[in-house]
Amino acid sequence: KVKQSGKNNYHIFMVDDAAAIERKRRIEFGLKEAILHNELYLLYQPKVKIVTGEIYGVEALLRWEHSILGLVSPVEFIPIAEESGMINEIGYWVLHEAVKQTKDWHNQGKLLSVAVNVSALQFDDPYFVKRVQNVLDLYELDERYLNIEITESVMKNTDYANKIIKELHDIGVGVAIDDFGTGYSSLSVLNNMFIDTVKIDKAFIDHVVSRKNTASLVKTIIEMSKSMNFKTVAEGIETIEQSSFLQQHNCEFGQGYYFSKPIKPDEVITLMNKDKP
Ligand code: C2E
Ligand code: MG
Ligand code: MG
Ligand code: MG
Repeated sequence: KVKQSGKNNYHIFMVDDAAAIERKRRIEFGLKEAILHNELYLLYQPKVKIVTGEIYGVEALLRWEHSILGLVSPVEFIPIAEESGMINEIGYWVLHEAVKQTKDWHNQGKLLSVAVNVSALQFDDPYFVKRVQNVLDLYELDERYLNIEITESVMKNTDYANKIIKELHDIGVGVAIDDFGTGYSSLSVLNNMFIDTVKIDKAFIDHVVSRKNTASLVKTIIEMSKSMNFKTVAEGIETIEQSSFLQQHNCEFGQGYYFSKPIKPDEVITLMNKDKP
């Protein structure tokens, strides 16, 4: 009805802003105690071979249930953890938890691999690779079952990043480029790096059936990625049409709600048993 005045808009903006600052402050302080208070947990999203639907691995996705704020998305709290210097502690908690769980699955006869997301800032820890090795040794998990997912933002310092990636590669841990296509790096840059998997971002998969340009872009990414001997994973597959397109164009691996949402560890087992003929 009545158009709001600039003054009112300004007022609303101020209120929103204050609320946002208060929320951010709560998240920052809440995160400091999140581990101690057992508020963090991991869900695991299955990764499948698109042709068969067979689950070969999972991605660990962090969840935080705050006592007052409820479930807070990692999209919101990871950047705050990075800013406030808590990402390292949280990152190692995730690594321990994911490796321990994966060893547990192995003990149950399910030889899954696990992918752990790592923030660019975690690479700044000079003992990062050593710590990764220590965690694998502690739970006696074979290196080849752990994958580290990094985004293109890690490549800002390409030489240093590649040194760490090579060290991971040398101990037998695979590295994937997450959300590929959203950043600035090209596949030719990746060609000179010791990564072994490219994950095509959901933003492309969303339009792979409906837009010709996106379809040809994705086809090109798959072909180039294959020619460089990378595994190609499509993220965020939600429909059978998207899955068929990717299968037709030789994208071997996929992940998305069409196959499964992120789920609890025992649900992974249930799903795998159901898959069996
Ligand atoms: P990501 O690593 O690219 O993870 C994929 C995100 O897409 C997850 O969101 C997943 O739940 C969601 N997703 C998967 N399939 C579908 C689909 O078919 N449809 C839709 N709409 N969404 C789908 P989530 O769990 O909210 O995580 C968001 C981001 O937070 C992750 O993106 C990752 O960058 C970050 N993150 C999550 N856990 C960790 C962690 O332990 N450490 C770090 N550093 N970052 C993490
Ligand atoms: Mg990821
Ligand atoms: Mg070993
Ligand atoms: Mg991603």
